[in-house]
Amino acid sequence: MNLHGTIVAAFGRHYEVEADDGATWQALPKGKRSIYACGDRVVLEPAASGQARIADHLPRRSLLYRSDAFRQKLIAANADQLVLVVATEPAFSDELLSRALIAAEHDHLSAVIVLNKCDLTDRIAAARALLAPFDGYPLIELSAKQDAAPLLPLLQGKLSVLVGQSGMGKSTLINALVPDAAAATREISIALDSGKHTTTYARRYRLDAASTLIDSPGLQEFGLSHLTLGDIEDAFVEFRPYMGRCRFSDCRHEAEPNCAIKQAVADGRIHPRRYEHFMEMTRRQR
Ligand code: GDP
Ligand code: ZN
Repeated sequence: MNLHGTIVAAFGRHYEVEADDGATWQALPKGKRSIYACGDRVVLEPAASGQARIADHLPRRSLLYRSDAFRQKLIAANADQLVLVVATEPAFSDELLSRALIAAEHDHLSAVIVLNKCDLTDRIAAARALLAPFDGYPLIELSAKQDAAPLLPLLQGKLSVLVGQSGMGKSTLINALVPDAAAATREISIALDSGKHTTTYARRYRLDAASTLIDSPGLQEFGLSHLTLGDIEDAFVEFRPYMGRCRFSDCRHEAEPNCAIKQAVADGRIHPRRYEHFMEMTRRQR
């Protein structure tokens, strides 16, 4: 008999699935490819010895992923919100932040930026300056080492996915928010008989009956090969008031005369960094 369940951990082709009756299954996909993400609702075919096969996924509300020229890298399915973790140190990439926000907007996820390590007070001003281009998004300043509570109200009632470059303190934040997170990490490395996967997999944690978190592996790049120039344009929220106002309807906002986007940059209504990010992200699409 087939069961329905939710993928609560994903590491390569291995998945941990929580069936709707509460039982946990270790599962592999039926095909060769791992087309499932943490958070996916799936159809399970139980096999011997507590193992199961994943036959299919149920319809997804959202699917957050990045991609390079060769393949898609799934981050999380069915999330409502992206939580981007940056820190006062080490330095973070504001372009990576822009890219992740574009993927979230394209997938209709809301987004929150967390500035971690605010106990390093002499670094806060520089980090805030780097975050100025993103002032349309909620920003929570905290120190995961001291108190993660300022983030809790924003997680309420949502499935949030945490994304960040390594070193920003994402694991510290998860451990502060979810007291048994470290134990879950240990269990999975025992189940896999290996410690080396523990930092490169996604896992879902329950905060309360209505709120869940997906922790995703730290990343250093966020490819958007799956998006067209038009998709990227649409996902820059602050571009929206100017869309359709350029002289040429197929304007690429590069060297064309009477470009409403470039005019908004010149007038200080679009941040120049975000315009630079747009140009960089659409370089391949031009
Ligand atoms: P991850 O790679 O994003 O999971 O980062 P970790 O959680 O492993 O943290 C990276 C480093 O930053 C570790 O040395 C942490 O102790 C440190 N760290 C994390 N949160 C804070 C914080 O709020 N304040 C300070 N000062 N250091 C932190
Ligand atoms: Zn234009």
